[in-house]
Amino acid sequence: FNVPTPANEPVKEYRSGSPERKALKQALAEFRSQETDIPMYIGGQEVRTDRKMRVTPPHDHQHTLGYFYEGDTTHVTQAIDAALAAKEAWANLPWEHRASIFLKAAELIAGPYRARINASTMLGQSKNAYQAEIDAACELIDFLRFNVHYATDIYGQQPNSAAGVWNRTEYRPLEGFVFALTPFNFTAIAANLPTSAAMMGNTVVWKPAYTQVLAAKVTMEVLKEAGLPDGVINLIYVDGPVAGEIIFNHPDFAGIHFTGSTGVFQKIWGAIGANIHKYKSYPRIVGETGGKDFVLVHESANADEVATGLVRGAFEYQGQKCSAASRAYIPSTLWPEIEAKIKQFLSEIKMGDVEDFTNFINAVIDERAFNKIATYIDEAKQSNEVEIIAGGNHDSSKGYFIEPTVLRVTNPQYKTMCEEIFGPVLTVYIYEPSEFSAMLQLVDKTSPYALTGSIFAKDRYIIGQAAKALENAAGNFYINDKPTGAVVGQQPFGGARTSGTNDKAGSALNLLRWVSARTIKETF
Ligand code: GLU
Repeated sequence: FNVPTPANEPVKEYRSGSPERKALKQALAEFRSQETDIPMYIGGQEVRTDRKMRVTPPHDHQHTLGYFYEGDTTHVTQAIDAALAAKEAWANLPWEHRASIFLKAAELIAGPYRARINASTMLGQSKNAYQAEIDAACELIDFLRFNVHYATDIYGQQPNSAAGVWNRTEYRPLEGFVFALTPFNFTAIAANLPTSAAMMGNTVVWKPAYTQVLAAKVTMEVLKEAGLPDGVINLIYVDGPVAGEIIFNHPDFAGIHFTGSTGVFQKIWGAIGANIHKYKSYPRIVGETGGKDFVLVHESANADEVATGLVRGAFEYQGQKCSAASRAYIPSTLWPEIEAKIKQFLSEIKMGDVEDFTNFINAVIDERAFNKIATYIDEAKQSNEVEIIAGGNHDSSKGYFIEPTVLRVTNPQYKTMCEEIFGPVLTVYIYEPSEFSAMLQLVDKTSPYALTGSIFAKDRYIIGQAAKALENAAGNFYINDKPTGAVVGQQPFGGARTSGTNDKAGSALNLLRWVSARTIKETF
């Protein structure tokens, strides 16, 4: 059957005086005026414990947004049991009924929940209105609508049959439960990891980052209102290793859908490997992990486009995107102009809380992130291989604020050129135009990651040469654009090497990981 043809949700602008701005302000005020209660949801029940954890906006330590309840091993086991109990009915529910739940969830976010899910993301994760809108509203709506469309395509793909025979393929869910372990930086990703597996008939245990629980709660509200049956997605707040210990030892563990750090993913992979004899089937391991995303500029590039791409790519959402532009290679002939433009942009950018809509930069997520990023900057200030081009200051007295910082290095292997920082720090290396071919090698070899990257050039031979030389260096490769902001249905997202399993979020490739196909041959 046909599902509605998906189109990308238009991005609202939140101009002063617009109805969407009013609704958003009201939702922000509602969250501000109360302490939100954030229970776990297991088997459709709200679960509270005596370990109440305070939630504060990253940009304002004084304010209490609410409290979530930390669970322990009992809750992990309860969530697994609830997922397994819900499994049969969910898996047997005809596809159009599963699909319509997710399509309704998309409608709810596009309409009545838009302001609420955006406000929860703005306050809980310190995103400005635009960054929240492209994530918690548009990208999440797109994931839901496009995945329903891709899933329908998958279910329709059937083999040929010779005369006297009828062959068919059943795209069955995995046997067991799926574990979704989700990050703080995108409400859309946090929601997509459990829902994409659930869409294909699986039931899920979902553990979000503790720094994303406010928007995770709103996501559950939406799914419940859309009619998601109890137990299909079970949301728990449990320490990662505590949850992992139980989940990766469970015979019914069928797969993990993960976005987070490379280190954690590799540990998980190891734990799954060590327990492999315990499982009914080989678990699906799907992960999107780190990045050290490059911008390579050729002398034929347009300096304006480069400067805009660098500032937006490196500093939007404080650089806390796996895809963030974090190392740039710029020819000496263009550097003076690009440097001047970057400095000018940064002098005009404002930093502060999320409720002043003119702030471009907000706070980084938590103390651990702040300390890690600040250490990179402070070490750079001491190094004789680094010149501070812009920023360099940080202050955690009110919130976790770090100025957008540009470092220029003389050593292209300096640590901020190689290691993922996950913050508002861009490192640039200036090369002589004659060294361009050597730069292609350097870009490819400098980091173990391969998530995103950009080439800026007008010369078509150069673009072709770079696209070929860097074919393994980025799963998402951009020509004359910033390396962030992949749109569902337009640029399927993911990378290889130590950036993940490259199962492209928001595509049929991803959904195929959540089914176990049965081939049936019937002879007449
Ligand atoms: N999909 C996002 C982008 O293209 C990045 C996702 C991430 O940070 O994990 O910018």
